Amino acid sequence: MDAIRVVHWGLGAMGRGIARLVNEKAGLSSVGAFDRDPGKLGRDLADVLNLTGKLDVVVTEPPRNGGGFPSADIVVIATSSFTKEVFNQIKVSAEAGLNVITIAEEMAFPAAGEEKLAAQIDEIAKTRGVSVLGTGINPGFVLDTLVIALTGPCLRVNKITASRINDLSPFGPTVMATQGVGTTPEEFEAGLASGKIVGHVGFQQSIAMIARALGWDIDEVRETREPILSKVRRQTAYAVVEPGQVAGCRHTARGLSKGRVLIELIHPQQILPQLEGVETGDYINIEGEPDISVKIQPEIPGGLGTMAMAVNMIPQVITAPVGLLSMADLPVPAALAGDVRRLVEMRGGRK
Ligand code: NAD
Repeated sequence: MDAIRVVHWGLGAMGRGIARLVNEKAGLSSVGAFDRDPGKLGRDLADVLNLTGKLDVVVTEPPRNGGGFPSADIVVIATSSFTKEVFNQIKVSAEAGLNVITIAEEMAFPAAGEEKLAAQIDEIAKTRGVSVLGTGINPGFVLDTLVIALTGPCLRVNKITASRINDLSPFGPTVMATQGVGTTPEEFEAGLASGKIVGHVGFQQSIAMIARALGWDIDEVRETREPILSKVRRQTAYAVVEPGQVAGCRHTARGLSKGRVLIELIHPQQILPQLEGVETGDYINIEGEPDISVKIQPEIPGGLGTMAMAVNMIPQVITAPVGLLSMADLPVPAALAGDVRRLVEMRGGRK
C-alpha cells in the first residue's frame, strides 16, 4: 500500500508540529501544505518545518474550491478555533474527496452552538464519502474523551467533576489576549463584557460530548470566568504581569439537568503558576458506583498533546464511517508506534 497522503492546512505552532510528526511516522507522507502567511508561501515544507533536505512540497495559498488539492487521503486543519471560520476549509476539503481532522476547538462537537453548520458538514461528508473529526488535547481528550472512557467501568454515574490546571507560559500573544493575561482587574471585566477575553473555548462542546456518550439530557450550561490575580511579578516571552494584575482566567462550566449539576468542568489557566506554589495537573472525579478518581501530574502538555492527537487519529478517521464524527464515535486513540499502513489495513483499508 502507498503511504497515506496528508495535506496540512495552517502551519502555525500546532500545524508545524503536526507536519513534523507526520514526517516521522512510517506510512504517512505530507503531500500538500497551505497557509496564508506570506512568510511561508513559496517555501519547501521542510524549510518551514526546520527540517534538513527537501520534502518537495511547496507551501501555497489555500484552494478556494476542490480543484486546488493534490491527490490525498486526509487534510489536517490547524487554522482557527471556531466552526464558522473553519467551515469553508472543511467544505472544500470534503468536496475534493479528502477526509478531515481539525483541531478547531468548537469542532470537537460542533452541534453544541453551531447546529446548522454541523448538519451541513455531516451532509457534505456523507455525500462525498469522507469523515470529518475535531480533536485536540482539550477539547478532544482531557476533559471529554478521557472522562467518557473512565465512566466505562461504572455501573452508575451520578456526577462528573474534572479540572485541568495548566500553565499558559508557552503560548503566544493571541492566547495571552484571549485569557486576559497582563490586564488589570478592571480591564479584565471590560474584556469579558466586550468579548475580547473569552477564557477557554470548548466547554460547551466537551459537556455536550460527555452528555451524549452517557445518554444524559443536559438542559442548561452555566459558565463563570474569574481573573486569577497575581501576588508576584511574572514574566514570559509574551507577557508581563505585575502584582495585582491578571495572570490568567479561571473558567468553569456546569452542565445541569432539571436544576441538578451532572458535569462540572474547571479550567484555571495562568502563566507561571509555580511562582505561587500552584502545581499543574489533570484531575477527574466520577461519583457513582464505583467512585473513580484519576490524578495526572503535571498536566498533559497541551501543545505536544494536540499535535499527537491530530496525527494519532489519522488511521481511525480514514477507516471510519462517513460523516461528521466526534472522538466518542471512534476507536480509542493510541500512539502510532508501527507502520500506519498496517493499522489501516487491519481496520479494513482506507475509504
Ligand atoms: P497559530 O496562530 O500559531 O497558527 C495558525 C496558522 O494558520 C498560521 O500559520 C496562519 O497563517 C494560518 N491560517 C490562519 N487562517 C488561515 C486560513 N484561512 N488559510 C490558511 N492559513 C491560515 O495557532 P496554533 O497555535 O497553531 O493553533 C491553531 C488553532 O488550533 C488555534 O485556533 C488554537 O486555539 C487551536 N488549538 C486547539 C487545541 C485543542 O486542544 N483542540 C489545542 C491547541 C490549539
